[in-house]
Amino acid sequence: MVERISVLGSTGSIGVQTLDVAKNLNIKVEGLAANKNIELLEKQAWEFKPRIVAVMDENMAEVLRSRLKDTSIEVAGGVEGLKKVASVEGAQTVVSAIVGIAGLVPTMEAIKNGKNIALANKETLVTAGSIVMAEAQKRKVEIFPVDSEHSAIFQCLMGNNKEDVSKIILTASGGPFRGRKRDELKNVTVKEALKHPNWSMGSKITIDSATMMNKGLEVIEARWLFDVSLDRIEVLIHPQSIVHSMVEFRDGAIMAQLGSPDMRLPIQLALTYPKRLMNGFSKLDLIKNNTLTFEAPDTEAFPCLKLAYEALRIGGTMPAVLNAANEEAVRLFLEEKIGFLEIPQIIERVMTSHTVEDTPDLDDIIKMDLWAREKVGETVSD
Ligand code: NAD
Ligand code: MG
Repeated sequence: MVERISVLGSTGSIGVQTLDVAKNLNIKVEGLAANKNIELLEKQAWEFKPRIVAVMDENMAEVLRSRLKDTSIEVAGGVEGLKKVASVEGAQTVVSAIVGIAGLVPTMEAIKNGKNIALANKETLVTAGSIVMAEAQKRKVEIFPVDSEHSAIFQCLMGNNKEDVSKIILTASGGPFRGRKRDELKNVTVKEALKHPNWSMGSKITIDSATMMNKGLEVIEARWLFDVSLDRIEVLIHPQSIVHSMVEFRDGAIMAQLGSPDMRLPIQLALTYPKRLMNGFSKLDLIKNNTLTFEAPDTEAFPCLKLAYEALRIGGTMPAVLNAANEEAVRLFLEEKIGFLEIPQIIERVMTSHTVEDTPDLDDIIKMDLWAREKVGETVSD
C-alpha cells in the first residue's frame, strides 16, 4: 500500500475526494497542484503540509507564494510547477486528476520519474495512449485506474488470464437525457445538461456524460489500459450506475463489480492495491436497489460515442483531435455560445478536416491538439 502521494488537480471533484481518502488512511500528501483556485489550495496546503504546491496560473502562484511565505512549503507556477509536483521526492504514487489534456504532460513527467499513477485523467490515455503506456512499461510503473468503469474492469480481471477475455462491457448511466431522441435535444440548456442523475463531478465530465462522449473517451481509455482491441469493447446503458462495468470471458462467464456510486471506492483501491481496507462509505443495499436494467446505447441521438469509436479505429493523432475538439466544444456550450447538438457536429467537422499522423510523438500530439482547437474557433465563427 502507498504511504505517500502527490495530487494533480487537488481542488477538483476527484482531487478533494482523494484528499479525503488520504486523510482516512493516514497517507502523507507531498504535492498538490491546481489551475487557479488558490483559496481551496491554500486551505489544503495548511492541512496537509506538502513539500510543494503548484498553481498553473503564474499570477495566482505569486499570490499563494506570499500567503505561504512563513511555511517551508515551496510554491511553484506554470507547467514547470505541475511537473515538480508530479516528480516530488517521496511520493510513490501520483494521483492524476487534472481535467483535460492539461493532465498529459505532468502525468508523463510522473511516469518518467518512476511514480505509479492513480489515473482519473482519462484524456491522458485518449490523446497519447500508446506513448503513455509504452513509457509506463519502460519505467516499470503501474497505472491504477480511478475511473469507476476501469476500476471495475481491473477488479473483474483480478485472478483471471487476459487471454481468456472475450469482451469488456463498459456500463454508462446514459446521462440526464437518456431516452430522448435527437430532435428532443436541440434546445436543452446548460443547467439541464449539468444535472447528472447519479454522480456529482466537474462540469466538463458532466457535459461529456450528457453527450455520451464520456463513454467514448472511456472506450479509448479501456483500449490502452487493458490492451484490448476496439471490437472487443462494448457499451451498455445501465441507468442505476450500480454495476460499474463487466468482463465477459470465453467460456461465457461474466464478472461484474457492483457498488454504490461513490468515487472514493475506486480512488481508495488505486492507493491500497492489492489490499482492500475498511472505510465509512455507504454500502450497497441490493434490496433497496433491486432493479438493475440494461439497454443498448442510442448512437443516433448521441453520436459522440460513434465518433470516439471512429477516432480510435483511425488511430494516430485522431483521438487527440477528437479530444481537443470536444474540450473546445464543451467549453463553448458551457459558455452558452453553441447549442447541445453542435457539440458532435463541431467534433465531426474537425475530424473530417484532419490529416492523420500515424505514429505521432508527444510533440505531434500537442501540436495537433492546438491545431484542432484553432479549427474549432474557425468553424464556429464561420
Ligand atoms: P474538476 O473540474 O472538478 O477538477 C479539475 C481539477 O484540475 C481542478 O483541481 C483544477 O484546478 C485542475 N485543473 C484544470 N485545468 C488545469 C490546468 N490547465 N492546469 C492545472 N490544473 C488544472 O474535474 P473532475 O471531475 O475532478 O475530473 C478530473 C479528471 O478525472 C477528468 O479527467 C475526469 O474525466 C476524470 N474523472 C472524474 C470523475 C468524477 O467523478 N469527477 C470520474 C471519473 C473520471
Ligand atoms: Mg467513468
